[in-house]
Parts: sequence; C-alpha cells; structure tokens
Amino acid sequence: MNDTILSVKNLSYGYASERDNSYALRDVNFSVKRGEFFVILGPSGCGKSTLLRLIAGLMPIQDGSIIFDPPTMAERRSMVFQSFAIFPWLTVKDNILFGLNMHGMNQDEQDKVADFYVKELGLDGFGEHYPADLSGGMRQRVGLARALAIDPEVLLMDEPFSQLDSFTAARLRKDVLDIWAREHMTVIMVTHLIEEAIELADRILVMTARPGTVESIVENTVSRPRNDRMPEFWKIEDLLTEMVKF
Ligand code: ADP
Ligand code: MG
Repeated sequence: MNDTILSVKNLSYGYASERDNSYALRDVNFSVKRGEFFVILGPSGCGKSTLLRLIAGLMPIQDGSIIFDPPTMAERRSMVFQSFAIFPWLTVKDNILFGLNMHGMNQDEQDKVADFYVKELGLDGFGEHYPADLSGGMRQRVGLARALAIDPEVLLMDEPFSQLDSFTAARLRKDVLDIWAREHMTVIMVTHLIEEAIELADRILVMTARPGTVESIVENTVSRPRNDRMPEFWKIEDLLTEMVKF
C-alpha cells in the first residue's frame, strides 16, 4: 500500500480580481502521508486558506495538480471552517446530518450517526437545539461533528480554533487529538500559531509570505502527549520562530 494519500505538485493560484495579477500561491509542492497530522503554518495572507480550499475541491485548480491516492480518497475529504459555517436554521442534529443526506444514507442510519457524534463531541442534550443557543466552542463542535459524520479519510481544518477563547481552544485541540488517535484519519490543518502547530502536528509545512510557497517541511519529533514546558518543545519552537516570517 502506498504511504502517500495526497500529492500537491507545482500548484500555483492567482485571484482574477486582484489588479496586479500576482499569485496567492506559487509553485507549491508537498505530499501528505496516510494517517498523519499535517499542519500548514504561515503568516496571515500567505495563502493557507487558498491552499486548503483547493485541496478541499472548493475552487478549481488553475496550475499544477492535487492528486489523491487512490483517487477515491477525494470523495472522503471533509472540511472544518474557521467561521464554523454551520446552518443557523438547522438543529445541531440536522447540521451534523447535512453531509449524510448527500451521501445517501437511510434515516435510521443517519439518526444513529448523529447521536454518536453528538456524544463524541460532548453535545449531549443539545441535539435539538439551534446554533443560536450555543457558545462558539459548541458551534465549532457541531462543525467538527458534521465533518466527522461522513467518516472522512482526509479531514481538512482551516484555523478551526482561532475564533475561540484560549481555554475553549485548548480543550477542543485535545479532543481533536483524541479523535484523530482513535479514528486514524489523515488531518491537514492550517494555522498561524507556532505553538498550536507543535502541539498537534507530525509534520509542519512552513509557508513563506505571499506569494505562498513552501519554505520548509519540519518533522515534529516532540513526544506525545506534548506540552509547552518540554525542552524539546522549545527547541522546535525556536526553529519555527526563526523560520516563519510574520
Ligand atoms: P491566509 O489564509 O494565509 O490568511 P488566504 O489564502 O486567505 O491567506 O489569502 C491569500 C492571498 O489571497 C491574500 O493576499 C488575500 O488577500 C488574497 N485573497 C484571498 N481570497 C481572495 C479572494 N476571494 N479574492 C481576491 N483575493 C483573495
Ligand atoms: Mg486563512
């Protein structure tokens, strides 16, 4: 079995609306291994969201390629957004089920899955509530539950904790790590926070400032469970701080 689940080759992207016609992404090359927690780290505006949206298939590719291996893995990707992107007019349960409707499951199976992820994400008792009743942390839990409900092989997350207060974010990061350890899916997450990248990632792709390209890919060998008081944590933190040009 091939160890690589995703290859990005010579990927460039420019937004037509931008006057100077400059690139948001330029010649990006990397591959992601099956089951790894892969983090894309870079300063604001360097093209992280552009890159993730292209990987998610939410925008057409202009130049280069993004290849899933096997190609059917493309059907098994799922996305968690910075802004949560859950539907205010649907209950928690119906939000979680939203993707499943499109995947052709029957009602019984859907209910089972929704109940499972309500529990898994600590939303017990809130299944019939609407997003307006929920805190930010709980809304993102719904976003995560919805993404997980399709049983993804590749989970894409764009700064999923950045809209949360630091305690809520820390808690949810831990839960995401637990879920990843249990489910063994591949995770590709975007962040601009060095500490967050070190806490979560197996490997960290450091992007340059715009036009975004690959500065370096760093193997994160800090032993798990990690915390920012470990000397090995500081070492990689120093390395990345040197590397990321904010
Ligand atoms: P990041 O997620 O790293 O902050 P983005 O991928 O959102 O970066 O943006 C990369 C660059 O592309 C930025 O300069 C941004 O202004 C520009 N950009 C992003 N989205 C659009 C858009 N829809 N139209 C025009 N320019 C955009
Ligand atoms: Mg972004």
